[in-house]
Amino acid sequence: MGKWRQELEEAAWVLSKATRATAFCGAGISAESSIPTFRDPGGLWDQINPMEAGTAKGLLRAFQEKSDIIVPILMTMLDRFEKSEPNAGHVALSHLEKMGILKTVITQNIDNLHEEAGTNDLIEVHGNLFRMHCLSCGWKKKVDRKPYVQALRNRLLKIAVYDLDALISLAVECDQCGSLTRPDVVMFGEAVKSLPQAFDASIQSDVMMVLGTSGAVFPAASFPVEAKKAGAKIIVINPTENGFTHCTDIYIPMKAGDALPFIVEKIKKSTEKQI
Ligand code: NAD
Ligand code: ZN
Repeated sequence: MGKWRQELEEAAWVLSKATRATAFCGAGISAESSIPTFRDPGGLWDQINPMEAGTAKGLLRAFQEKSDIIVPILMTMLDRFEKSEPNAGHVALSHLEKMGILKTVITQNIDNLHEEAGTNDLIEVHGNLFRMHCLSCGWKKKVDRKPYVQALRNRLLKIAVYDLDALISLAVECDQCGSLTRPDVVMFGEAVKSLPQAFDASIQSDVMMVLGTSGAVFPAASFPVEAKKAGAKIIVINPTENGFTHCTDIYIPMKAGDALPFIVEKIKKSTEKQI
């Protein structure tokens, strides 16, 4: 902590005065839960072209034409999503909410870990991998993360030829109409979810923490800019400098899972705000 103590203490002081702070999170906050980011060196986008496999149509084509590349990558990702648990960063955010400091978490992550850590006011702008969405009637249903991943992996292992029938066999059936569902996540080219709510939360915040996001994915990356314009203080926690330098008030070049618990403890010690 030593090197960044002043920044951490400043962040704790600013947050201790806040009542409607937001956290704007990216893949980096789940990196310490062993879910790799996509953009960092060695991440997914070093292995496959996002413009190719990042769309629903492209992913289906890649399954059929490059299953030898896609399936092992998918298996590794499923393994990470199954084994992950909320980390100290996720838990610290849920504490800040209970302390009446943090109002809303806006996340780009799809891994369900904020909810599992106890965050209630959550906007998932890229959706949730563990919520199924019926392609016919629009019905949505949450599935349990670990059993769903295990079942999906077992079904994948049974496939000999990656044709359309095999791919259909991977989908969960809709409880309402029996049609096919897909995970309710935003792929490349699809509309970001709950955008008006996320903008609203951004412009109403007194402080915005920007945690583990590179700022490369728009329109989500404009939330801190809008928050700043509306008067919020911007605290960035990311080991690597990101696209928000121009609007940052306090920059802490640390892992979220190290910095956030320190900040929460500091606030608890300096105020009466308890969980
Ligand atoms: P990104 O562009 O938000 O980049 C990740 C950022 O996290 C980088 O700036 C990196 O420096 C930072 N980081 C790495 N470890 C950190 C740590 N311990 N603490 C704080 N910051 C840390 O994200 P991406 O990987 O390019 O992903 C793009 C999109 O793909 C996401 O917006 C999301 O929708 C999806 N995605 C989701 C997950 C998930 O749900 N866990 C994981 C990967 C990608
Ligand atoms: Zn249906």
